[in-house]
Amino acid sequence: MQQSYADVVDRIQALDAADCEIVGAATGHPMWGLSCANSAQDPLEVLITGGVHGDEPAGVEAVLQFLEGFGATYLEHCAFTVIPCVNPSGYEAGTRDNGKGQDINRAMSDDEVVESVTLRRMLQGRHFELCFDLHEDYEATGFYMYEAQRDDRLLGAQIVATVKADVGPIDSDENTDAGLDTPISEGLFGINPKWRHKGWSAYGYFEAAEHGILPETPSTAWPLEQRVAAHHVALRIALDHYTGRNGRRSES
Ligand SMILES: [Zn+2]
Repeated sequence: MQQSYADVVDRIQALDAADCEIVGAATGHPMWGLSCANSAQDPLEVLITGGVHGDEPAGVEAVLQFLEGFGATYLEHCAFTVIPCVNPSGYEAGTRDNGKGQDINRAMSDDEVVESVTLRRMLQGRHFELCFDLHEDYEATGFYMYEAQRDDRLLGAQIVATVKADVGPIDSDENTDAGLDTPISEGLFGINPKWRHKGWSAYGYFEAAEHGILPETPSTAWPLEQRVAAHHVALRIALDHYTGRNGRRSES
C-alpha cells in the first residue's frame, strides 16, 4: 500500500486541540510537527516522535491515533511536542532510509542529513521529562523496547509484561540488533550512550530528557493494529505513571 505523507499532514492539521507547524526541513517535504497543551501549570513536557525509519508505519499510526484518541485525556497534566513522521520521503517510499539513502537514526550529528539538523534545532533550549520514539523491527518475532531514565526508575518491565499479557509475545531477540546488547530483563534493553551522536532517541535522551522510551514492534510478524496497540501500551503506562493515574505519582 502506497503511504502518503499528505495524509499524515491532513490528520495533523485536523487535530482540534493542537497547534501544528512546519518544524523544519526534511528530504523532499517540510517536516510537520505539533504541540498541544491546555492551561495546566508546570505541565509534564513530553516529546513523541514516529517514522524515523520510513518502513516502520506502526509508529506513525500509533502517534496519530494517540493524538486523535486517548492522548487528549492527558492534557490536564501534560504538554506534548510531537512529530508523527520524521522521515516523510522514506515513509512514502516504504524505505528505512530517507530519499537520499541516509539512515537518520545513524546520523544525528551529520550536518548533511537534513532531518537530523531539523531535530537537533528543535531540541535547542528544550527539556523534556519524557521522550518516546516509536520504532519497528522487521526481523523481530515479538515486542521489545529500549529505555533509560536518569535515576534508573525504569518502567520497561511493566510495559513488557502488559504487552505480553494483552497484545502479543515478546521477541526472543535472537534475530534482532537488540540481541547484541545484554537485556536488562525480558524484552528490555538500555539506551546505549555510544549511540548518542548517531541514534535519535539516544541523542534526544542524553541531550534533553529525563526519561527515554523506544518501543519496537514486529512489523512482519503482527498486523498493523496489533503493533499500534503495543505502542499504546508503552505510552499509556508511562503517562499514567507520571500523571498519577496508577497511584504512584513520581516525585520528580
Ligand atoms: Zn526504526
